[in-house]
Amino acid sequence: MKYYILFGPPGAGKGTQAALLVEKYNLHHVSTGDLLRKEIKAGTPLGLQAKEIIAKGDLVPDAIVEGMIKNEIVSNQDVKGFLFDGFPRTVAQAEALDKMLAELNTGIDSIISIAISDEVVHQRIHHRAMIENRADDANDETIRTRIANYHEKTEPLIAFYKAQNKYFEFEGEGTIEEIFGRISKHIEK
Ligand code: AMP
Repeated sequence: MKYYILFGPPGAGKGTQAALLVEKYNLHHVSTGDLLRKEIKAGTPLGLQAKEIIAKGDLVPDAIVEGMIKNEIVSNQDVKGFLFDGFPRTVAQAEALDKMLAELNTGIDSIISIAISDEVVHQRIHHRAMIENRADDANDETIRTRIANYHEKTEPLIAFYKAQNKYFEFEGEGTIEEIFGRISKHIEK
């Protein structure tokens, strides 16, 4: 069983690359953002709690996403591998994930990081707001908060995974196919 993490700032193209990777390598895609949006749509208590946090661009509490991830892992042990997208987003989440996988006598194989500048992040999010109608993409204040949260809370994961020799960075500017080609080469190594 392979465990990959797709990493990068909001708007890096994680969702687009995830869809291609999942299909080519037969992986189970776990996007915490998608799972949370599903809860919001279904109007569950968790969804109601997450809705306001997401609208502001803040991160939902670690315990909530860790619970969702644990559930996905234990209920999908028949798949070839996992591709986590948008998780972990804090060092505490990364530590929790390491612990969950250690309990299954396994661990993360690699972090696939898509690198783009803050300027491109802004452009891509504005573009996505028009296509996907995501509330958290439409508001400048929310976008700024998400980028600030990324730098403050998520970027420290780079050092965390570099220390484990599991961090691999890919240039995120170029066509979808070019970026997919760079990542595929790594997976097939
Ligand atoms: P995404 O679709 O990955 O951009 O996620 C949308 C929003 O969901 C984020 O801006 C956060 O508010 C929330 N979210 C998604 N994944 C996580 C996570 N791992 N930890 C905390 N909040 C998350």
